[in-house]
Amino acid sequence: MLVSMSSRADASKDAFRLLPSIEELLHDPRLAALAPRVSREVWLGFLRELIERWRAEIKAGKLDATGLSARLAGTALVDELRRAVEREGRAGIVRVVNATGVVLHTGLGRAPLHREAASAMANVAGSYCVLEVDRESGERNQRDDRLSELLRRMTGAEAGIVVNNCAAAVYLLLNTYLARGKRDEVIVSRGELVEIGGSFRVPDVMERAGVVLREVGTTNRTRIADYRAAAGERTSLLMKVHTSNFRVEGFTEEVTPRELAELGRELALPTAFDLGSGLIEGDDVAALPDVMGDEPRVRDAVASGVDVVCFSGDKLFGGPQSGMLVGKRAAIAALRKNPVYRALRLDKVTIAGLERTLELYLAGRGDEVPSRAMLRASADELRPSAERIAAALANLPRCTVAVIPERSQPGSGAAPGVFLPTFAVRLTHESWKPAALAAALRRAEPPVFARVQDDALLLDPRSLLPGDEELLLKALRSVLA
Ligand SMILES: *Cc1c(COP(=O)(O)O)cnc(C)c1O
Repeated sequence: MLVSMSSRADASKDAFRLLPSIEELLHDPRLAALAPRVSREVWLGFLRELIERWRAEIKAGKLDATGLSARLAGTALVDELRRAVEREGRAGIVRVVNATGVVLHTGLGRAPLHREAASAMANVAGSYCVLEVDRESGERNQRDDRLSELLRRMTGAEAGIVVNNCAAAVYLLLNTYLARGKRDEVIVSRGELVEIGGSFRVPDVMERAGVVLREVGTTNRTRIADYRAAAGERTSLLMKVHTSNFRVEGFTEEVTPRELAELGRELALPTAFDLGSGLIEGDDVAALPDVMGDEPRVRDAVASGVDVVCFSGDKLFGGPQSGMLVGKRAAIAALRKNPVYRALRLDKVTIAGLERTLELYLAGRGDEVPSRAMLRASADELRPSAERIAAALANLPRCTVAVIPERSQPGSGAAPGVFLPTFAVRLTHESWKPAALAAALRRAEPPVFARVQDDALLLDPRSLLPGDEELLLKALRSVLA
C-alpha cells in the first residue's frame, strides 16, 4: 500500500489531537499520588515537558496516534512522570559511598574531612562566630589571622593567605603582580603549561588574569638559562607550575624552585611555584611521601626561597575546598592588598574546617586526616575489608564474586603515575551488565559509586569510610536481592 504524504499528515494530525492538555493531566486520577511529591510549579513543568517531548516525537514521525493511545492507556504516562519526580528527589548534593578506590575523586567532592573539622564547620554554619573581631580587645581584625598563623607554623613560611581554591590562588597571584606598572609578562616553562581537569588551563587563567604568557624552554627540557634569557623590562613574575596530572619521562630537565628563587633575587623579580596538590609534611607527619612518589612537599618549596607557593586545600592536604598561598611576608601582604582578594576570600565555614585540619596536623595527628589514612593503607590492610564485602555478597542470587589484587589511584591529578596496590571485589551478574549495575547503584539509597572495568563491577575498599561497608552492602542488596 502506498502511504501518501497527505495520509501521513492526517495520521500525525490525529496524534496531535490525542495529546492531552495540561488541564486533563492535572485531573488524571492515576497521577494523583505523584503530583503532591513536588511543588505545583515543578509538577506543571514536568507536565509541560512531557507534552512537548511527545509533540516533538509526533512531529519527527516517531509517534503516531496508535502509539500515543497506547502510552496514554498503559503505564507510559505514569512511568515517565514517576521517573521525573524521582529524579527531582535525587537531585543535588547528597552523601555517597565511594567504592571507586579513587581517594581524591573530584566528582565525589575530593577529600572527606576529619570528623573534628566537619563538626567545627557544622557548628559555625548554624551559629554566629568570631570571624572578624578579636576576642581579647573586641577590635576588628582579619578573618584569617589565625589561619595565617597556623599556615606559618605548618609550612615554615613567613606568611599565608587562603582563597576559594588553587585556581583562585593562581589568579590572585598573577593579577597582583600584573598591577606593578608596565610589567605584564609572566615567564613559565613550556613543559609546565598544564591543564588540570578541563576547566583550569594555566595559559587560559593567565590570559584572564590579564598577563602575557612568555613560554620558555621546550616541552621536555627547560633550564634556568631559558628564564634568564627571557627576563626583561616587561617581566612581572617568574613562575613554576607542578605538572600535577602527567609526567614526562626520558630526556628531561626542569628548573628547580631553588634555581628560580636565586634568579629572582639576582634580577629583583618575584617568583612563584604553583604546587597544585601540596604534600604538606611536617616533621611529625610521616609516611605519605613513600607512597606518593616524588610529589613535591610544601615545606621544601617554601624553603627553596620562592616568594609565593600555592596549593589546594582539598587535594593531598585533605581539607575543605580552598587554595593556600604561603611565602614571603611582603609578597603575601601584596596579595592581601589586592581588591580582587575580597572576591576570592573564604567564608566562615571553610575557615573553621581549615583551622581545625591544620591544628590536627600541628598536634601530630595529621595521619588521622581520612584521605591521608586512605592513601597510606597497604593492600594487606585493605584485604580484610574486600573479603568481608565479598563474603556478604556471595549469597546474592546469580552473582559471581571474587577478591582480586588491583591498583587504586590517588586522584585529582595528585601524584600521576602513582598506583597504590589494593584488593578489590570483582562482581559479575548473570543478567546485569556492569555499566547498568553501576548506574542502578548510583540511584540507590545511599548512592554507591563503583568502578566498571574488564566487564565487571569493581569495589575498591580503599576509599570507604568507617560505616561505608554496611551502606555499600545495603545498596547492593536493594538492587540485586
Ligand atoms: C589542581 C591544581 C590546580 C587547581 O586547584 P583547585 O584547588 O582545584 O582549584 C592548580 N594548579 C595545579 C598545578 C593543580 O594541580
